[in-house]
Amino acid sequence: MNRLLNRLIKKHLSGLSDDLGVKNFLIDIKDAFSQQKEEKAFMERTLMLASEEFNQINASLKANLAVNKENHRKLEKIVAKQNALFDASTEAIFSFSNDNIIEKVNQAGIEFLNISPDDYDENEVHTCDLFMARLANVAKFNLDIDEIRHNSDARIHGFFESIDNKYYEYYSVPEVIDGELLGRVWCCRDITGIRKNEALLKHQANHDALTNLPNRVMLLDALNHAINLSSRHNTKVGVLFIDLDDFKKINDTAGHHEGDRYLIEFSNRVKLALKSGDIVGRLGGDEFVVIVEDIQDVLDIIQINERILTLCEAPFYIKDKKYYMSCSIGVGISPDDSVSADDLIRKADMAMYQAKTSGKNTYHFFDKKLDQIALESVLLEEQLREAIAKDEFILHFQPKFTLNNNRICGVEALIRWQKSPEQLIYPDKFIPAAEKNGLIRDITYWLIEKACKTMVSWESTALCSMPISLNISALDFADANFTEQVFSLIDQYKIDSSLLEFELTESIFFDDLVQVQQTIAKLKSRHIKLSIDDFGTGFSSFAYLLDIDIDYLKIDRSFVKNVHEHRKSHAIVKSIIDVGINLGVEVVAEGIESELEMDLLAAEGCHIGQGYFISKPINEAALVKFIEKIS
Ligand code: C2E
Ligand code: CA
Ligand code: CA
Repeated sequence: MNRLLNRLIKKHLSGLSDDLGVKNFLIDIKDAFSQQKEEKAFMERTLMLASEEFNQINASLKANLAVNKENHRKLEKIVAKQNALFDASTEAIFSFSNDNIIEKVNQAGIEFLNISPDDYDENEVHTCDLFMARLANVAKFNLDIDEIRHNSDARIHGFFESIDNKYYEYYSVPEVIDGELLGRVWCCRDITGIRKNEALLKHQANHDALTNLPNRVMLLDALNHAINLSSRHNTKVGVLFIDLDDFKKINDTAGHHEGDRYLIEFSNRVKLALKSGDIVGRLGGDEFVVIVEDIQDVLDIIQINERILTLCEAPFYIKDKKYYMSCSIGVGISPDDSVSADDLIRKADMAMYQAKTSGKNTYHFFDKKLDQIALESVLLEEQLREAIAKDEFILHFQPKFTLNNNRICGVEALIRWQKSPEQLIYPDKFIPAAEKNGLIRDITYWLIEKACKTMVSWESTALCSMPISLNISALDFADANFTEQVFSLIDQYKIDSSLLEFELTESIFFDDLVQVQQTIAKLKSRHIKLSIDDFGTGFSSFAYLLDIDIDYLKIDRSFVKNVHEHRKSHAIVKSIIDVGINLGVEVVAEGIESELEMDLLAAEGCHIGQGYFISKPINEAALVKFIEKIS
């Protein structure tokens, strides 16, 4: 029973004394029942409302949850997709924090760092040093990206080369969220292939497909450039217009395929005749053009022409049949003949026609004066060859004196060419040509052998143990066989090699210094003395003297001439003597023509003197008499 009813019955039963009491009791019971009913109905209604509301909330929550789940799934998908895209990108992508830590990097980026993806631990801290270590030129890169150091919002774009010779294009953008700079994203695209293709296309546009030589377009470009440069540097440019002789016959009889082979072979032979800076190109057909920059001497061009014609002399085989190549060459020189590229080629072409009409297989200059020089130089070369074969060279000797006590301390051997009993040719007339055409090597060999023989012949005379100095060309010095040849002659004639002195000019130092040092060391191992000739006229740097082991410096005679009258010459002579004294080498003054010059040199501390004042260069018989006279 209801607790309220229970309480009421207990109350009424305790005071139950009349009917009214019972009646009231019953009324109360009834009221209580109806009150309870109302309350119950109210509660039921309230409960019903609450549960409806709850259901509604529940349903909406459920719906929200589903949406959230869906959104989460979508987000996960997007992130996964982005990660896949990030990794699938062939561009190396890096996200760097503000303190240059790699926060994210894709697969291509890991590969760029040259790390295997399995070895790259994302949880480890990697700095941008990993990235920088891959760059071929960090200094240049730092310069290129300088802008972001001043402006952190900058978006930059550029190129760099990696240490494995790949080219990259990069973009770098700031990573900003809600106005806050979090770092930078770098995208690097490998453009090596594109670069190569561009280079290939450029090459194809500028080169002849058959011979792979520069074509007309590139030749004209190069020639214009060379002419401009030469006018700025006051030098000369030579153009060789080369036309094959009778090429049509090859094409007609052996076919185009063989004709092509012939052209390729010819172009290879021309290349062999040139030095590294010279350019050969094909104008078309059987016409070629050579550009020679920075010509010092017309002999340079004559040499190239001669070499081309000589290289053509080797036979060319087509199906076991021998053919002989030959060509006609015309030469134009800028600025003398023209300063326009087109015009210079036209003039070289005209000279080439002259070569054709004068019998082919030869060359002509546009300038007739040069033709004459060429003729003389070719004749000289032939005659020099003959002179070597016929042993027409002789030596004159010029004594050298110690200036403090007037004692003879050696002789300089000076070559002369006794072309005929009446005709004695001095070295200035033929040594430069021999240096150009390579005959100097044979002449120097003759010279050293002659010096050895002379020393042997002096052994039982007053000239016994007389040191002999020889002038050695820079070309001899650069020759890998030079020292071996010298040593084998020394051994063959069993001479005291410490009596040999080589006079070298500063031009030896234009070559590979390491090789020069090695050659010097080899010569010194046999106690051969070395001196720097014509000192002060060439290299104009004393630095090289510190690296090499020499015995004498020879002051050039241009400084000695009237040294007592010229303040500047005096100053130069004095400083050369000081350099020599400081380096611990003896100083020789050449070209002393007067007592005044000699006295001044002696007073300044110069050790050795040589010149007409003491003795002109004289032949061996005169030298013997000279020695007898002074002793
Ligand atoms: P160089 O080595 O400077 O030789 C000295 C030249 O000065 C010699 O000329 C000599 O005759 C000349 N001379 C000597 N004393 C006097 C003087 O008091 N006054 C004047 N005005 N001249 C003097 P040379 O014999 O005509 O030689 C000229 C150059 O030819 C030499 O200059 C040297 O560079 C080269 N030469 C000579 N012989 C040879 C050689 O056997 N081989 C090589 N590669 N070059 C040589
Ligand atoms: Ca000399
Ligand atoms: Ca000299």
